Amino acid sequence: MEEPCDPRSGSCGDALQDLFVYLDGQLTVERRLVITSHLDRCSPCFERFSFEIELRQVVAQRCRDTVPESLRMRIAEAIGCDPGAGLGPCRGDDPSAM
Ligand SMILES: [Zn+2]
Repeated sequence: MEEPCDPRSGSCGDALQDLFVYLDGQLTVERRLVITSHLDRCSPCFERFSFEIELRQVVAQRCRDTVPESLRMRIAEAIGCDPGAGLGPCRGDDPSAM
């Protein structure tokens, strides 16, 4: 799965397009692996990915459109974060605590 990381090759475009499907939790395991390995090598896509995750968290908090815990864990793993600490305040705590 060593794809070249060249925006013109379509590798980045594919990754970013799949990224949204990934965040919706509708991507196959195979495709997730392709994306995560791409993000490993491609910092522009990685930053884009991180940004989208943060954006999703804000949206999820505002709209209570909850991201499944399992997906958050998987994303945290994918980007190498501690799911308890690295993904901000949105980790399934009691929302009335605010
Ligand atoms: Zn890329």
